[in-house]
Amino acid sequence: MSQETMHFQAEVKQLLQLMIHSLYSNKEIFLRELISNASDAADKLRFEAIANPALLEEAPNLQIEVSLDAEARTISIEDNGIGMSRDEAISHLGTIAKSGTKEFFQRLSGDQQRDAALIGQFGVGFYSAFIVADEVTVESRRAGLPASEGVRWQSRGEGDFAVETVERAPRGTRITLHLREGEDELLSSWRLKSIIQKYSDHIALPILMRKEEWDAEAGKTVVKDETETVNQASALWTRPKSEIDDAQYKSFYQHLSHDTNEPLAWTHNRVEGRSEYTQLLYVPSRAPFDLWDRSRHGGLKLYVRRVFIMDDAEALLPSYLRFIRGVVDSSDLPLNVSREILQESRDVRAIREGVTKRALSMIEDLAENHAEKFATFWSEFGQTLKEGVGEDHANRERIAKLLRFASTHTGTDEQTVSLADYVSRMKDAQTKIYYVNADSYRAAANSPHLEVFRKKGIEVLLLSDRVDEWMLSYLTEFDGKPIASVARGDLDLTPDEAEKEAQEKTGEALQPLLEAAKVALADKAKDVRLTFRLTESPSCLVADEGELSGHLQRMLKAAGQ
Ligand code: ADP
Ligand code: MG
Repeated sequence: MSQETMHFQAEVKQLLQLMIHSLYSNKEIFLRELISNASDAADKLRFEAIANPALLEEAPNLQIEVSLDAEARTISIEDNGIGMSRDEAISHLGTIAKSGTKEFFQRLSGDQQRDAALIGQFGVGFYSAFIVADEVTVESRRAGLPASEGVRWQSRGEGDFAVETVERAPRGTRITLHLREGEDELLSSWRLKSIIQKYSDHIALPILMRKEEWDAEAGKTVVKDETETVNQASALWTRPKSEIDDAQYKSFYQHLSHDTNEPLAWTHNRVEGRSEYTQLLYVPSRAPFDLWDRSRHGGLKLYVRRVFIMDDAEALLPSYLRFIRGVVDSSDLPLNVSREILQESRDVRAIREGVTKRALSMIEDLAENHAEKFATFWSEFGQTLKEGVGEDHANRERIAKLLRFASTHTGTDEQTVSLADYVSRMKDAQTKIYYVNADSYRAAANSPHLEVFRKKGIEVLLLSDRVDEWMLSYLTEFDGKPIASVARGDLDLTPDEAEKEAQEKTGEALQPLLEAAKVALADKAKDVRLTFRLTESPSCLVADEGELSGHLQRMLKAAGQ
């Protein structure tokens, strides 16, 4: 077929413009992104070749080659992975925006630095080539297709791109970047090597570059025909811990998560026994922009004996830990495992339990030994973790210990008080853990229900997150102490003798008033009672034990129920 010119999808175009401008100070990431795509293409080929070994053709050794041509001012990245058909090139490189693009645009703030981090998180991918290139050419042949069905895709990164069918013998993809004016510093193999080592060292396939040697006679370096491998070329998680330094763990995290921030913590170990697997898990320091989109589960990449199987393997992680990133490499699962099989598999259940325990220990370690990091964790992921109280019965107590609340004891809206802290401050006669729940911290802190507690010096937890009420319907006690709302049922704050007497007298005196109020409010209130809970406000509403509280009623109403 002859050449055809097509337009980028509107959002792709917008993304391109934005990226070129806001990522310029970080321009070297283009190489990381293109190498990461080459590595994904190799993973995909290996995976498809499990069912169809013929796809490997005569080239079973997968690799990536990076080369440069100083005269033509080009850099190219070539892989022998899965490749793309003409249709795939059209849709993947131009006409289909990635999922999440819309949300992504909504989150942009206009602040360059923040947006750059967000773009990184979104996964800039292929288009980052245009940060340094004014023209990009992609030549590809998909594994399994004949040489006559190669494709050439070309664009200047403005509004459109051209595609044509070409003859191409080698399987896989070659991407050639024609550098923009002023980018000549990239035309140095030393420079490219150092970028590869910085960002792509952990890529599991060899990244090759042509060898260079100093030629004394000619007085300059000459490029040889031989190639050398410039990265470590072994999957990071398969190497012994003692051989991996922090910088390597961090850069692997950034590769996995597309997050430019450093992780808060990680854990790496091999599990033997019932189910054998290696896990490398990370706690990010920043929530991704789509953490609340439950359809995009995120999470762990699954490998089976080093063969990549799938991204976002949701069966490996409970939903409340969806912020955890990492890799699980199983020795037991079959290579042809599907998402459906994963849901059923006993091995997977064992892995999921193990991963959950490990992830919780990592968070516990932050709580016990790294207060500042834990505070960051809590503000980014605390609300997500709270979902675990309802979702993960088996680990409820462990999760409960990690919860943090605002409280009348600290008097700020920061959530720093644990249930254990609260219990350690309970008064001698106090048997319950008290909380008040409202739509905002201010409303909670100003609740009239608090008056009597203040007077008696009893601490009350101040809850205002959306999930709190739901969570507390699963968490009814901690350390043997019931958790009770100040707005519900009878209080057990036993008054002393003198107080009791005084209260009885007041009660008798106010009886006629109560009767009158009951009649007046007959269709609004189930009962009108005298209370000694309030010290300043004249009255307040309470729910009966076992009835929905006012806050939950309002929430259900808002949700249309
Ligand atoms: P992502 O990698 O997050 O999917 P990219 O923008 O990096 O997004 O790439 C878009 C798509 O283009 C990839 O999902 C893949 O289908 C295709 N692609 C890019 N580079 C290659 C390559 N080297 N070989 C095969 N397909 C590729
Ligand atoms: Mg990519």
